[in-house]
Amino acid sequence: MGLVNPDFTDRVNRPEGFNAAACMNCGVCSAVCPMGIDLLPRKLFRYVLLGFEDKVLANSETIYSCLLCRMCEANCPAEVNIAENVRTLRNYINKNVFNI
Ligand code: SF4
Ligand code: SF4
Repeated sequence: MGLVNPDFTDRVNRPEGFNAAACMNCGVCSAVCPMGIDLLPRKLFRYVLLGFEDKVLANSETIYSCLLCRMCEANCPAEVNIAENVRTLRNYINKNVFNI
């Protein structure tokens, strides 16, 4: 279990917006991902919604390994904006970890 940071979800949500709440955890995104990324979006996005900042930051490498190819998004039945969410997480890490 990670530590819940109550501000984390709000800070990720600002200013770009983060849409992952509609995810049904169906697994289609992982099945079609050319990088075989299983964490995105199902688990990492859920961590954001639950406030587990430490778990998200511990998986920064995965967040930066995404190709932003949108294969997952094209097949997502819940129309989650997966690539934009990945960009939002990268922006968050750039600002809050790397100070850039
Ligand atoms: S395909 Fe969409 S609904 Fe299914 S797990 Fe991935 S993000 Fe969630
Ligand atoms: S956008 Fe990222 S997570 Fe989605 S299929 Fe492409 S590499 Fe995988």
